[in-house]
Amino acid sequence: MISISNRLQDILTTIQSAQLSEHAARSVNLLAVSKAQSALAIREAYAASQIMFGENYLQEALDKQSQLTDLAIEWHFIGPIQSNKTQLIAQNFSWVHSIDRLKIAQRLNDARAENLPPLQVCIQLNISNETSKSGITPQQLEALATALTKLPRLKLRGLMAIPEPSKDYNKQRLQFKQVRECYDNLIVKGFALDTLSIGMSDDYVIAIEQGATIVRIGSALFGARKYQAQ
Ligand SMILES: *Cc1c(COP(=O)(O)O)cnc(C)c1O
Repeated sequence: MISISNRLQDILTTIQSAQLSEHAARSVNLLAVSKAQSALAIREAYAASQIMFGENYLQEALDKQSQLTDLAIEWHFIGPIQSNKTQLIAQNFSWVHSIDRLKIAQRLNDARAENLPPLQVCIQLNISNETSKSGITPQQLEALATALTKLPRLKLRGLMAIPEPSKDYNKQRLQFKQVRECYDNLIVKGFALDTLSIGMSDDYVIAIEQGATIVRIGSALFGARKYQAQ
């Protein structure tokens, strides 16, 4: 059986070679998406020197966090956010990738404790025009980014997106390119951003070729999810 540690090494090697491409970012970080995986699996990845872990569901994440307090994990929240969850998210995570409403951002800002560093956040962008999916449109982006920079307990780092899955390499590449253009556009307008959170197990090489700085990888690292997460 292939271990998490073996898969981690393979992914890191693949990331390195993808970084040789023309538009790749100088630094690309791996976010291990551990939703539906056990605390033990997280421990195994951590022992193989993985530090950043991403979770989608608050209660599931808190359960695992309570079993892993001895590890210096950097926790990222990457799932949809309901307003009644903002308090606990602000208290228990270093990063939130899925900001798509000012109201949620304000609540996170208000709940972020003074003794912690500002919460590091990304705006979730929806470029696939699927109305069911979370994320804001490129047209709404600048206004939300401007509003976020006025919240002192949040630090806007960049953009996150989950493009519509596609087996067509070109279609996938164009979607990532569109996200990168929105990101570059904000930088041109003076926003100090350094994070482009795009790419998952099936498409992270293409995402890196288009400038990803964080790839969010679950199944390629941990294997298929063993149960349906909540
Ligand atoms: C589940 C999930 C991932 C990881 O998906 P894999 O295909 O298993 O790599 C990445 N980002 C988000 C937002 C997710 O919900």
